[in-house]
Amino acid sequence: QTLISLKKIAKIYRSQNVETYALKHIDLEVNQGDYLCISGPSGCGKSTLLSLLGLLDSPSAGQYLIKGIDTANLDMDKQAELRNLHIGFIFQSFNLIDELSVFDNVALPLTYREPAMSAAEIEKAVIKALSDVEMSHRTQHKPNQLSGGQQQRIAIARALAGSPSILLVDEPTGNLDSKNGDAVMDLLDALNQKGTTICMVTHDLRYAGRATTQLKLLDGEIIGHTTARATHPVAE
Ligand code: ADP
Ligand code: ADP
Repeated sequence: QTLISLKKIAKIYRSQNVETYALKHIDLEVNQGDYLCISGPSGCGKSTLLSLLGLLDSPSAGQYLIKGIDTANLDMDKQAELRNLHIGFIFQSFNLIDELSVFDNVALPLTYREPAMSAAEIEKAVIKALSDVEMSHRTQHKPNQLSGGQQQRIAIARALAGSPSILLVDEPTGNLDSKNGDAVMDLLDALNQKGTTICMVTHDLRYAGRATTQLKLLDGEIIGHTTARATHPVAE
């Protein structure tokens, strides 16, 4: 089932009469259960592609459909609503709020949902997400009382708590040592096996082998599109 469809997408940054084609001629379909891995050299457009997929930015040309909805003519509020509903973000920097407990960090995005979730629904979703990343024993800790690997797991729980249609992941192991990095990648693997759709940017090709689809970007274009394995069957 098609989740996201990009047709002839281009992204042009304009500043002081300089035009940069960050992306051009991007055609891409992401299906439910896919695990996409995007790689390519610095400046090739990986972050730009993730921000477009995540509705953080709009393309300069082309069409972006998510769950059949054309995102072209949506106002900011409607885009934010779709983003909150469908997209979970995981970044290299964990972006946790130091003053808030683990529980409250994971709960925070849920408090912005439309229609509003009740406190009981939020609590249930937070507990489930923390259990999925095996961090149930740390709900009242503050982020700075946790290791980097644990902080990234909390960030993953925060992304999962809203039951997103897709997780967008940008260099998740960039701030982790190899042991914690492996654990985070194993966790993402396990989530994909349970049906979570993932689109990840990484230049670590050791991990790229686990994806269903490997995309290689160069100068804003897809120069390689390989299907590495079938999507895990998902119980609907
Ligand atoms: P990557 O994530 O692969 O390193 P990016 O998507 O960040 O690449 O950038 C793609 C290209 O677009 C680069 O040439 C970069 O310099 C340019 N670019 C990115 N963001 C901006 C911006 N806000 N203004 C102008 N150029 C940008
Ligand atoms: P980099 O690609 O330089 O390692 P990140 O992975 O942290 O940087 O972020 C990738 C892109 O996502 C950047 O364009 C950044 O502006 C954006 N971004 C990072 N964190 C957030 C956030 N919490 N909310 C929205 N956008 C973010």
